[in-house]
Amino acid sequence: MAYVIDENCVACGTCKAGCPVDAISEGDIFVIDPEACIGCGSCAESCPNDAIFEY
Ligand code: SF4
Repeated sequence: MAYVIDENCVACGTCKAGCPVDAISEGDIFVIDPEACIGCGSCAESCPNDAIFEY
């Protein structure tokens, strides 16, 4: 189970700071590497814009 970031992302970086496996890459919108993600949910909880959900 991995998490994904949708178009509501404003690239604030809050999620990236809390990822324990550094699975989140910066960009116009941030992207989660599905191979690296361990599905902990930390990013989804921290996102101020509700842009991250389980996939
Ligand atoms: Fe990183 Fe956890 Fe978010 Fe996966 S669910 S990208 S491991 S913070």
